[in-house]
Parts: sequence; structure tokens; C-alpha cells
Amino acid sequence: MYEGIIQELIDELGRLPGIGPKSAQRIAFHILQTETYDVTRLAEVLLEIREKVRFCEICGNVAEEATCSICRDPRRSPATICVVEEAKDVVAIERTREFRGLYHVLGGAISPIDGVGPDDLRIRSLVQRLADGVVTEVIIATDPNLEGEATATYLTRLLVQPNLRVTRLASGLPVGGDLEYADEVTLGRAFEGRRLVQH
Ligand SMILES: [Zn+2]
Repeated sequence: MYEGIIQELIDELGRLPGIGPKSAQRIAFHILQTETYDVTRLAEVLLEIREKVRFCEICGNVAEEATCSICRDPRRSPATICVVEEAKDVVAIERTREFRGLYHVLGGAISPIDGVGPDDLRIRSLVQRLADGVVTEVIIATDPNLEGEATATYLTRLLVQPNLRVTRLASGLPVGGDLEYADEVTLGRAFEGRRLVQH
């Protein structure tokens, strides 16, 4: 335990996902030794992020405007929608450069234990996006774990409509894991080898 404000900083950092007590301590001491300018910039960004970042009205991805840069990009194909759990999964898939369509961010996965049902996710807006028939393929890219599989199964049953292919990323992704932790090559291959789950 450190005194006062240093321990407070370590405690706050330690509450962030993926940061254990040792990392929190290391970051805290790094901040202590950093030039004032850098610390001010970090503090500013932390304050600004809540004000500036919002969620795309179309796909639910993070955006600085009403819609995200991917939805606004005319070079992206509107015929394919890749469904992911979180905005960070969009980043992971973009890194593979395998996908040139649009996304739909659910905002989580179905998890009865955590009290998350279909109505808590952005599923209705996904169905609305499919209404005009422009989309011909929905790629389900939920995480390869229990909740992700449950969500994929639910969507496969729900999205039955003429002229719509529903595909699922190929296996080979680390089971039980998070999509964002898959390396680019593995994720790229999972995209290429996606399988039809419903036609
Ligand atoms: Zn968007």
C-alpha cells in the first residue's frame, strides 16, 4: 500500500479491464515520471472521450459523428453485413483486410446468467437493416465462446428470409476466447472459410 493519492491512482488503474495490481503500479509510477504535458494530454483525452464519442446510428460502432466512418465510406459493399458483439471486434476484423462490407455491432451477446436477452442487444435494428433486400449475406462473427454461440444460433433462426445467406466464421478460432485476441492470419482465414449456416 502506498500513501494517499498514489494508492488512489493504482486502485483506479487496477479497476480497468486486463490490468492487474502489478501493471497498475507500473503505470502509476510511469505517470509520476512523465512530463507534465503528456499527463495533461492523457487527462484531457479521458475527459473528452465521454463527450465526443458516440455510437453510429446505423451500425452501433463507435463514431465521432452521427454515423461511423465505415458506414459513410461509399467504397464499402452494402450487400454484406458482418455482425459482431463489440466495437473492438470491428477493429480486429478491419486489421485482417479481408472484409469490405458493413458491420452491425450488437453491444454484447446473449447470456442468461448475466441477464442479457435478445431484447438487450441491437438485434431489432439489424432486422430493420435487412428489410429492403439490399443485403444478401449476413456473416455472424460473434465470439467463439458459449455466449457467442448462443447468439449465433439465435440469429441463424431469426434471420430466415428469401435471398439472404447467413454464414458463420470458420472454426479454427481459439475456442472460449474473444474474437479480438485472434491473430490477423487466423481471423482472416476464418473469414475466407466461413460456412453457410442458412440459405
Ligand atoms: Zn456505422
